[in-house]
Amino acid sequence: SHQLRTPLSAMKWFGEMLLHGDAGALTTDQKEMVDNIYTSNERMIELVNSLLNISRIESGRLLVDPKPTDAGALVQDVVKTLKQKFDEKNQTVVVSVHEHLPLVPLDPKLIREVYANLITNAIKYTPKGGDIQIFVSKNDTDLVSQVTDNGYGIPKEEQGRVFQKFFRGQNIVKMETEGTGLGLYLTKSVVESSGGKIWFTSDDGKGTTFFFTIPLSGMTAKKGEVG
Ligand code: ADP
Repeated sequence: SHQLRTPLSAMKWFGEMLLHGDAGALTTDQKEMVDNIYTSNERMIELVNSLLNISRIESGRLLVDPKPTDAGALVQDVVKTLKQKFDEKNQTVVVSVHEHLPLVPLDPKLIREVYANLITNAIKYTPKGGDIQIFVSKNDTDLVSQVTDNGYGIPKEEQGRVFQKFFRGQNIVKMETEGTGLGLYLTKSVVESSGGKIWFTSDDGKGTTFFFTIPLSGMTAKKGEVG
């Protein structure tokens, strides 16, 4: 982890210094080039972090530290942190939370990643002005969450591969949106290692809904190296 991240962090710091003019003012061309180096490096950091998380999950080194969690409040908070992204695309977001949701023992960091990934995907893969709906509810045994968008959808013939590592839909690749194709693989790993299930329905060009459940009994604590 150290060997992979240290050089990328150094590039990030020095890139920031150049952009802040610490080595003198940059010309427009120079700024454009350094900006480009900086964003490419950010993408590499994201990729390395995802790969490291996958390796932690696959080798059982991920720490799970469940605490009684209000999933509704957590989702509202995730939506707040993503507000700028919704606003940039003029998208409407509606969050509906079951009135009497019990506190569920969840690792807040892990469950936050699950919601953040599904909601970020809904934003990225829905055109400007689209609608996103989030439901957090429960049945007798499970916490049930749903993220619905009216975006680009996932082509029928590719739907069997959605949770595979590095999968990116053909319709999406054409649009050149950024992504690693690792988010859903990680999300599924977290949900399933918590005893839950994740699935989706999608219509090409019409929209997508992701569902996931986590047992109301919550996640099981696990010692590990990193959260
Ligand atoms: P990334 O977003 O980095 O590409 P993910 O693993 O989160 O990686 O998603 C994999 C692919 O699944 C995306 O590239 C996209 O093709 C498809 N996808 C995921 N969520 C949606 C969605 N809400 N609408 C349409 N396509 C989606």
